[in-house]
Amino acid sequence: MMAAKGNAFSVIMNAQKRKLADGAAKTTSQPAKKGHWSMGLLSSMEDPALKVESDDKVVIIKDKYPKARYHWLVLPKENIPSLKAVSSEQLDLLKHMHKKGQELIDKTEDAKHLSFRLGYHAIPSMSHLHLHVISQDFDSPCLKHKKHWNSFTTDYFMDSEDVVEELEKEGKITDKGSRNDRLKYPLRCHVCKKEQVNMPKLKAHILSHIPKPGDKE
Ligand code: AMP
Ligand code: ZN
Repeated sequence: MMAAKGNAFSVIMNAQKRKLADGAAKTTSQPAKKGHWSMGLLSSMEDPALKVESDDKVVIIKDKYPKARYHWLVLPKENIPSLKAVSSEQLDLLKHMHKKGQELIDKTEDAKHLSFRLGYHAIPSMSHLHLHVISQDFDSPCLKHKKHWNSFTTDYFMDSEDVVEELEKEGKITDKGSRNDRLKYPLRCHVCKKEQVNMPKLKAHILSHIPKPGDKE
């Protein structure tokens, strides 16, 4: 007999893959289909090379294109396309996702000197709800473009605790589509707030802010 839990998960995943995505950040009226890049998180949740851990409610994976030394995604097993589909019913789940992300940070030796943030993008590009857990060094070759930078350092990145608080108060997460303009904001260091002329300059500059082991205990 097949293991009931694994089987149920596969059924959900297969149904989800078959289903058209809600098109988290779609720009046309056509929703994404199975195999479309925006559905890639579903396969990655089952990829042993990316999977970090899981429990009965969530799967944690490494971001395939990490924008910092540590960049994980916490995804629910439940079929939830995005924050748009979240209601008070998922409040405990969002709290659990945060807790699991924080536990992973706490287990990370480098977290003694690196800071982390946990949050959601205002307009996600990938379908299936995912919580980013990302170290604030932003020291990664995958961090290339202004939109990458601004998506993690402006209020396009919504702290998980604020999202949970909004859900607690409002019973839903209001649409943050108007924050799209943040991606075009000038490049600004997230630590000292100094404006930088381009990405290479910014990337060189932020290295000076990365704490070294022993700086913070
Ligand atoms: P967003 O939808 O903007 O909140 O972010 C999606 C995140 O998923 C980005 O940080 C990407 O680097 C990451 N990503 C894109 N495709 C995959 C994939 N197939 N597997 C794992 N992570 C991915
Ligand atoms: Zn700076």
